[in-house]
Amino acid sequence: MKNNNQLEKALNKLNSQISEMTEEQLIKFLTNMSSSRLGKYSLLNQAMIYSQCISRGFEPTMIGALKSFWIAKHKSRVKKSEFSKGIWILCPKLYNKKFENSDGNLETVSVLTGFKYGRVYDISQLENPENIKMEAQSKVTGISEDKIKYIMDRMKSEYDIEIKHMDFEKGGHIERAKQGEKQIIKLNSQLPITTNFKTLIHELAHSKLKHNTEECNLSRGQKEVDAETTAYLVLSQLGLVDEKESSVSYIKSWNFEGNLKPNVSEIFSAVTEIEKYIKGVK
Ligand SMILES: [Zn+2]
Repeated sequence: MKNNNQLEKALNKLNSQISEMTEEQLIKFLTNMSSSRLGKYSLLNQAMIYSQCISRGFEPTMIGALKSFWIAKHKSRVKKSEFSKGIWILCPKLYNKKFENSDGNLETVSVLTGFKYGRVYDISQLENPENIKMEAQSKVTGISEDKIKYIMDRMKSEYDIEIKHMDFEKGGHIERAKQGEKQIIKLNSQLPITTNFKTLIHELAHSKLKHNTEECNLSRGQKEVDAETTAYLVLSQLGLVDEKESSVSYIKSWNFEGNLKPNVSEIFSAVTEIEKYIKGVK
């Protein structure tokens, strides 16, 4: 399918760029990714922007879509020499589909029909960048419990997972799915909804990374590093990473020898999938 090809190509390119990064660059990359500086772009696009900029030797500061954006909004233009050096991103092609829900009401959902490539430029690629007023970066400060509840309810009803609230000691876990059946994620009913949502994203990451299949032969530590890195990236975009950065210490606790590198391309595929659940895109 053409759609998947574009996404796959982008992920492959991202993966090869990331695999060439030094450890220092990789840490910088992940730190940037979690700071939501380019928050208006999807996480995959942020990753594409950061990796292309880092491989060209600069860090992105302010990114704008299309050359016309800079002319119209900031009365500047892309330098002639930089014109062919646009930064590639993937633009989703969405259309709004109306359907009748079980209550007989009309609802609108965004349906993803494919991706096309788009080009953006960093402020440093413009003429007289010093004249451009930097836009204040809006800090993501988290989403409300109501919104979290809404997202969780929608995940339950519209996607391939079943969420069960149980009375038990631990935080949560995912059960191995039988062929053709829904994946069951069990959460602790005693815990606050935000905690459960974080657990749900972590367990969903295990599922999207295919950790609970027989074919997966990664070590427990590697699985936890990858799942929690995925969850960390998703949650930081929603402003749900707390000050104490519990995910970072969780990753460290599994990566006690410091020799496990996250599998970045798989992680970004998983993040892209989970973002669809959160945004309600099918
Ligand atoms: Zn886990």
